[in-house]
Amino acid sequence: MSIAEGIVQTLEDQARVQHYSRVKTVWLEIGPLAAIEKESLLFCFDAVTRDTLAENARLDIIDLPGEAWCLACASRVAITQRYDSCSECGSYQLQVTRGDELRIKELEVE
Ligand SMILES: [Zn+2]
Repeated sequence: MSIAEGIVQTLEDQARVQHYSRVKTVWLEIGPLAAIEKESLLFCFDAVTRDTLAENARLDIIDLPGEAWCLACASRVAITQRYDSCSECGSYQLQVTRGDELRIKELEVE
């Protein structure tokens, strides 16, 4: 619930800066390591936007790829969770470089 509330808070803060009064669509980028339950986020978003400027807004989730740097073989590899092993050499000495994003990419407002 708190993530959805945080998004609504951001939308309301931005509304004051950017002078819009209705949010119609929110494009949200989420990395695989952000540990977000998409189904429950969508459900919570509908609930917490009621009676706000984002009531009935559509939440469109964009999945970002996860990426890590392997210290053992010096490769850049794709990961889907935090404790993945290196797809090149099998090592677990991965330094996560991308994947914990949770950010609003774009808004459709009026
Ligand atoms: Zn490796």
